Amino acid sequence: MNRLRPNIRDMKGYVPGFQPDDVASWIKLNTNENPYPPSPRVVEAIYEEVGVDGALLRTYPSASSAKLREAAGELYGFDPSWIIMANGSDEVLNNLIRACAGEGEEIALVHPSYSYYATLAEVQGARVRCFGLTDDFRIADFPERYEGKLFFLTSPNAPLGFAFPQEYVEELAQRCSGLLVIDEAYADFADANVMELVKKYDNVVVTRTFSKSYALAGMRLGLAIARPEIIAALDKIRDHYNLDRLAQAACVAALQDQPYFRNSCTRIRETREWFTQELIAIGYQVIPSQTNFVFVSPPDRNGKRVYEALYGRKILVRLLSDPLLAHGLRISIGTREEMELTLAALKEIG
Ligand SMILES: *Cc1c(COP(=O)(O)O)cnc(C)c1O
Repeated sequence: MNRLRPNIRDMKGYVPGFQPDDVASWIKLNTNENPYPPSPRVVEAIYEEVGVDGALLRTYPSASSAKLREAAGELYGFDPSWIIMANGSDEVLNNLIRACAGEGEEIALVHPSYSYYATLAEVQGARVRCFGLTDDFRIADFPERYEGKLFFLTSPNAPLGFAFPQEYVEELAQRCSGLLVIDEAYADFADANVMELVKKYDNVVVTRTFSKSYALAGMRLGLAIARPEIIAALDKIRDHYNLDRLAQAACVAALQDQPYFRNSCTRIRETREWFTQELIAIGYQVIPSQTNFVFVSPPDRNGKRVYEALYGRKILVRLLSDPLLAHGLRISIGTREEMELTLAALKEIG
């Protein structure tokens, strides 16, 4: 197979969380999906776009997702020229690497965080530098001046769930000579976010996804906010029709129904707080979470044992293969009922 580029031939490829075929027979808490459906207005908008005979589907969608940039700009307080829409935030994470790092050039990420960044870098042939975390959740050994082309900071962190404080993120922005990409996939579940830093620092990019808080993982929608020069570069790289018509219609409707969205996020946050307290009461260690999941470790620090016992009860959570995380489990926050059943199962398992 010497026709393949060596980095592609030798790489392992990313393994997404397990999606069972008989999804209805599981309590599925392994991929941080939203347990509540999207706004009813999203469903209406999709039907409307399809119409009775699908006539609109003959024609290409807006290449720039123009209405979405406007709707997102209005919501977040940015001119549309500072926003790019993506076919899932994964698409824009990929294009950020392609825009900044050539073959052999360095990008950085935090370990543990979202491991897909490393896969994307491997495809590009970029080198990856991993920074660990200190016990108080700061970046270990981060240089006074970091010269890599791009640094991915997942905040709130996945899979641990904590968020970096804004002052600290600002300090990192000042120490990076390349881009600081803050992946705020979970920011809608947090007390605060750092989107405003995009206005203050010309190397800061913030990405968001509609997969979790807006319950649209199945539609593939994400966005990035950055200076217009960066957005213009990303626009050159992306597929020109990167978002299909249905996704665009769904996304505008989702953004416009803020009351529904806020209610859904509030319910998940309340369930998260309740579940956290209950787990602590049965001797689990739980990292206080700013997301729609919790990273927990059982008293015997044997994540695999508890994973398997839950699996046997048709409750699916995430056991991460990383040895650093084998003592625990990442559990997405489902409905209150699902979490009550999960708690009862954990008490039984012991
Ligand atoms: C889920 C997730 C993404 C991917 O979002 P999509 O919009 O579904 O591609 C990106 N980053 C982090 C940290 C995530 O957890």
